Amino acid sequence: MRSKLVVGNWKMNGNLASNQTLLKSLIPLLASVTHARCAVCVPYPYLAQTEQILRGQGVSWGAQDVCEYEHGAFTGGVSAGMVADFGCRFVIVGHSERRALFGDTDAVVAKKFAAVLKAGLTPILCVGETLAERESGVMEQVIARQMDAVIALSGVAGLGQTVMAYEPVWAIGTGKTATPDEAQAVHAFIRERVAELDVRAGDGLPILYGGSVKASNAAQLFAMADIDGGLIGGAALVAEEFAAICKAA
Ligand code: PEP
Repeated sequence: MRSKLVVGNWKMNGNLASNQTLLKSLIPLLASVTHARCAVCVPYPYLAQTEQILRGQGVSWGAQDVCEYEHGAFTGGVSAGMVADFGCRFVIVGHSERRALFGDTDAVVAKKFAAVLKAGLTPILCVGETLAERESGVMEQVIARQMDAVIALSGVAGLGQTVMAYEPVWAIGTGKTATPDEAQAVHAFIRERVAELDVRAGDGLPILYGGSVKASNAAQLFAMADIDGGLIGGAALVAEEFAAICKAA
């Protein structure tokens, strides 16, 4: 039985003062959530602050990306080992904003995924199609291609120890959410693709849904058989809203 997981992706938002308020508000609100795991992925400069506030409080934290390299002459890069130093449990890789705005190719995402695993952390691998890809009928090919790059480099067996997130690009930050049935169909496709290679990895793989999840639609999404929780953007910046989503899980 897979347990539910809800992860907040703060993106490039926050500052020391607002983070402190948000994190300190979350702690009591999430104290009653014992049936789901909760985490927040914050900008790099605030990992130390997040660790200091959340350590021992039952809420995990992580980073939103890493460099694919371990160390060296990569100005501006931040390695998986570096974020591990700040107690991170999770690292998001392959978010559609990284793919679209920062040029992360499938091959780069696969290397980042491997780097996160090597550092002993859990990658959250994001996959998803654009509206044009969905409408032109290539959605499954796109998602399969994104997954296959990672499987080719890291193997399938380990995938069951990690986390995937299905995030239709057209639903991210747009207020448009995939219907529970639309999301379930893609989650089932993802699980089946992994299970074809390794049944245990497929069964064990937590697959989160991301794309305009709110307190008002979370319960219907999380009730679907292959939806194991959510990756939450905008709604993760409001303590009560994020806590309500965690409770819905
Ligand atoms: C995200 O950034 O991963 C995301 C799902 O954003 P939002 O919830 O704002 O659509």
